[in-house]
Amino acid sequence: MAADTILQTEGLTKDFRGFRAVDDIALTIQRGTVHALIGPNGAGKTTCFNLLTSFLSPSSGRITYKGLDITGMKPAAVARLGLVRSFQISAVFGQMSVQDNIRIALQRRRGHSYDFWRSQRTLDSLNEEAAALADSVGLSDFLATPASALSYGRKRALELATTLALDPEMLLLDEPMAGMGHEDVERTTELIRRIARSRTILMVEHNLSVVATLSNTITVLARGKVLAEGDYNTVSSDPRVVEAYIGS
Ligand code: ADP
Repeated sequence: MAADTILQTEGLTKDFRGFRAVDDIALTIQRGTVHALIGPNGAGKTTCFNLLTSFLSPSSGRITYKGLDITGMKPAAVARLGLVRSFQISAVFGQMSVQDNIRIALQRRRGHSYDFWRSQRTLDSLNEEAAALADSVGLSDFLATPASALSYGRKRALELATTLALDPEMLLLDEPMAGMGHEDVERTTELIRRIARSRTILMVEHNLSVVATLSNTITVLARGKVLAEGDYNTVSSDPRVVEAYIGS
């Protein structure tokens, strides 16, 4: 595995009772890039995503993360290695404030039990770190707001903050813009761009203008296979890609 490769799949295949949803996929993700997985409905994006985070085990093939074979590992073990799926471990507790939600995620990373915050100094330092994370996702004005009172877009920002609290090296985002209005899309695009300065990101995303704006590399799937790969200009001008989208 090349030094600049963080994640690689070889022959990744998933059958559902005889139906091949993911068919012999070889993916190489470069460290420090934003890599998007796109394709028409039914292309196998979600299945691929679930394989990469060990939510599904492959029928055959191999997944290597930072030189380590992670095929078949438990999702939590994969997450501990720094490969984290947003919204995976980061349940947001509606009744709790933004700050408390982030603080609990931070405590989880540090392996603290919940009553650890008896020490005022520990609590203060956690709160400080939580406030900084809230600030980094644009939630500094909402520290005391219960998560359930946040707008949809801000709730997703909070979910991202609780994921970032785990300090992942590589982040997998499943349709980060889904259900968002224009303003939230703009804000989230900016946020992902900032996160990408220090982490590797793989995302499945339907919003192609977001994909064009953010991605260094795009892999287009169709019928479980890689149809095309490259930067946005390369894949969007590929007649097979145009055809797959129109034909879907
Ligand atoms: P995408 O995310 O690109 O829309 P999916 O990965 O969800 O595609 O699905 C790829 C194909 O696999 C689809 O035809 C879908 O019906 C099928 N599929 C996905 N999950 C299952 C499952 N659990 N059982 C059977 N078929 C499935």
